[in-house]
Amino acid sequence: MIERLRNVFQHETQSGDLYECRDCGTTLDHSVRRCPSCRSDEIACYEL
Ligand SMILES: [Zn+2]
Repeated sequence: MIERLRNVFQHETQSGDLYECRDCGTTLDHSVRRCPSCRSDEIACYEL
């Protein structure tokens, strides 16, 4: 059961949503709430 949960988690982290800064286009980690490059908080989320 634990192994199954781990597989789901890895699947989501590897091919989950894509987060990108709307201002400069930098690809961001899902946990980032503000762009480290331009400090914009306009984060776009694309579902893959
Ligand atoms: Zn940015």
